[in-house]
Amino acid sequence: MIKAVNLVKRYGSNYALNDVSFEIAEGEVVGLLGPNGAGKSTAMNILTGYLSTTSGAAYINGVNMLENPMEAKKLIGFLPEQPPVYPEMTVIEYLNFVYELKGCALERDKHINEVLSSVKLLDVKNRLIKNLSKGYRQRVGIAQALVGDPKVIIFDEPTVGLDPKQILEVRNLIRTLAKKHTVILSTHILAEVQAVCERVIIINKGRIIANERTDELTKTIEDGYHYRVKVCGPQKEVLSALEKIRGVKSVTATGERDTDSYAYLVESERGIDARKAIFTLCAQKSWPMIGMTPVGTDLESIFIRLVDRANGEPTKNETKRRRAH
Ligand code: ADP
Repeated sequence: MIKAVNLVKRYGSNYALNDVSFEIAEGEVVGLLGPNGAGKSTAMNILTGYLSTTSGAAYINGVNMLENPMEAKKLIGFLPEQPPVYPEMTVIEYLNFVYELKGCALERDKHINEVLSSVKLLDVKNRLIKNLSKGYRQRVGIAQALVGDPKVIIFDEPTVGLDPKQILEVRNLIRTLAKKHTVILSTHILAEVQAVCERVIIINKGRIIANERTDELTKTIEDGYHYRVKVCGPQKEVLSALEKIRGVKSVTATGERDTDSYAYLVESERGIDARKAIFTLCAQKSWPMIGMTPVGTDLESIFIRLVDRANGEPTKNETKRRRAH
């Protein structure tokens, strides 16, 4: 449904996008993730036809965005970070205006009512947009993207500035829309990707550094597993016993202490699950273990490690290992 082929966008000697290619199939919900300045907006502006490329091409359902922008744009609904709503119009006036602007051919009243209903705006359709809360205004922004029933919807930071309840509402709405549309969601909020997207494309300094199913992203990290373990027992002895477990690569005392327990960060060799061995050791030594939680498998940690690696910076563990030598 969406195909980006070797996209390059250069400003002077600076590459906002440097040879970016990806494909998104019909019905997929994909998160576009990256630190500030990574090139997310540039990529989205090219896909939506607002920006030309230095080289490369973007296709929407096989239509080349540069060669046939009118046709390609009809296939896309876009919610920019600042939704282009007119505060002095009522919701219904505004959607009629967007309908005209897009040269929509669908049966007008029926279509606009369907759009209003899908974003739950029917009750406020005659209210002036300026009198709506930010959450409702965001729904109006989403509604304008839906006018014309585009196959693809692109959201740029859709929950910025909303309160937690509104954030959940907008995420639920995106999930519902995803059943009938192909969705790209650009965000810097990792929880949002985890909550909504099946796949994530991470860009950094204009290049793709990961393109994976959200639940398989952990596999791109080649390190072993990390656990935070809390054990009641003499710190030095526990540390040295944990270090001797087969398959354990490193153990660090984190410095956290409850009355009689200390916390340790245990890293296993790649591909080895050391949890049973840790548990058995503590049981044999009669050191009650009062906690064991995996760390570093959340999207945030993976993201930081991938970006560090792409920037040629050592990850925390590599730094630790180097210091140890
Ligand atoms: P993101 O959306 O991920 O924050 P952008 O796509 O906005 O990143 O920007 C990518 C890079 O391109 C940045 O280094 C930015 O400074 C640069 N850039 C973006 N637009 C322009 C422009 N019009 N002129 C010069 N540089 C630009």
